[in-house]
Amino acid sequence: MKPVIALVGRPNVGKSTLFNRMTKSRDAIVADFAGLTRDRHYGDGRLGEHEFIVVDTGGFEPTSTGGIVKEMAKQTRQAVAEADAVIFVTDIRSGVSGHDHEIAQYLRVAGKKVILAVNKAEGMSESPLLAEFFELGLGEPHPVSAAHGQGVRSLTEAALEGL
Ligand code: GDP
Ligand code: MG
Repeated sequence: MKPVIALVGRPNVGKSTLFNRMTKSRDAIVADFAGLTRDRHYGDGRLGEHEFIVVDTGGFEPTSTGGIVKEMAKQTRQAVAEADAVIFVTDIRSGVSGHDHEIAQYLRVAGKKVILAVNKAEGMSESPLLAEFFELGLGEPHPVSAAHGQGVRSLTEAALEGL
């Protein structure tokens, strides 16, 4: 079985951009993977000889019933449940938000491997702004730029390590 990596995080941090970077454009064939649901977006990824599946989340409207926090929590729970590793995507340009803290709190107790990505960090890989992300309690923040492809390889390696 290929390992499954889920991308979670609040809207607009760059999950789908990262998904596109980590996958080929064709959709993953998930029929053989028991437990994967079809209401999320799956893609095939490869790093050297290591193949994996990436799950994008967040295809919902901010106005959906129950509000954005509830919907994010639901999407995050479902994606985390079926993943072997989780990449929690945050945004260095907007900093750490209350929603980030809520997701982090959930991830800390979820019992899955979590890698913290700080996106939109092009030209900012040494920025002191990264230090703020340690407060999420999920270890070392990995600066990446999904839009420019920077840091995505080492982020993927970190997510796959030990799987
Ligand atoms: P999602 O809602 O988390 O899936 O976020 P999207 O992938 O749709 O991206 C949200 C916005 O952030 C879009 O305007 C992207 O172009 C932008 N974005 C994504 N990645 C980067 C990045 O690495 N750097 C910058 N500057 N913008 C980015
Ligand atoms: Mg998206």
